Amino acid sequence: MDQVKAVYNSKTVCPVCASKIEFTKVRSKAVRLIKQDTDFCPYYEGENPMFYEAVICPECGYGAHVTSFDNISRYDKEKVRNEISSKWHKRQFTGPRTIDQALEAFKIVLLNLTCIDGLKSEIAKICMRIAWLYRYKGDQEQEKKFLNYALINYKKAYSQEDLTEEGKLDEYTCMYIIGELCKRLGLYEESTQWLSRLIMSYSDPQQKEKIPQRLIESARELFQEVRDTVAATKEEG
Ligand SMILES: [Zn+2]
Repeated sequence: MDQVKAVYNSKTVCPVCASKIEFTKVRSKAVRLIKQDTDFCPYYEGENPMFYEAVICPECGYGAHVTSFDNISRYDKEKVRNEISSKWHKRQFTGPRTIDQALEAFKIVLLNLTCIDGLKSEIAKICMRIAWLYRYKGDQEQEKKFLNYALINYKKAYSQEDLTEEGKLDEYTCMYIIGELCKRLGLYEESTQWLSRLIMSYSDPQQKEKIPQRLIESARELFQEVRDTVAATKEEG
């Protein structure tokens, strides 16, 4: 399928300024996931649907992840109008996106989340995507910077938020991602603490059924990998 037909525009109403707007989506038939990194960074053949997950209102500058675009309180709408819309220059965001255009859109979403003091789990989710986009570009410095923001916010989400709510990352996947991010940032001891906490939860019969088998297998592999890395570092030293 050619690139032009892989994406199409969908209509919605902006919850902040009530304008009728369009945003671009990828046809599900055009999506082919080839592989994922250990932190779930996806790789696609053809169009990457992640590039389109940041939906921005061209009229007022409100932006959110496509799954939470409509979920904004009246109080937060007012904040976006005062702090973002007042400085916004109208512009279009529809059509095929490059990595850089996707990055820009996600950064506008992050700005919105900062403005409304959004949920830490949502901030972490957006930071992960920004880090992955930098990974695609081969910019390791920026990638690490955003992985670190994601880590800080996932840790806050773990301790402050109810992760059993629908649509949210569950607490066990959250523990795994924290362990994975710690490893990527060289925080090996902290990584093994989070992973062993997850692995121990699996031996509790009441928690076991809530934890996917595949997640535990990944956690065990990652735990071993971190242990081996630490042992190798000690031998070298
Ligand atoms: Zn708007």
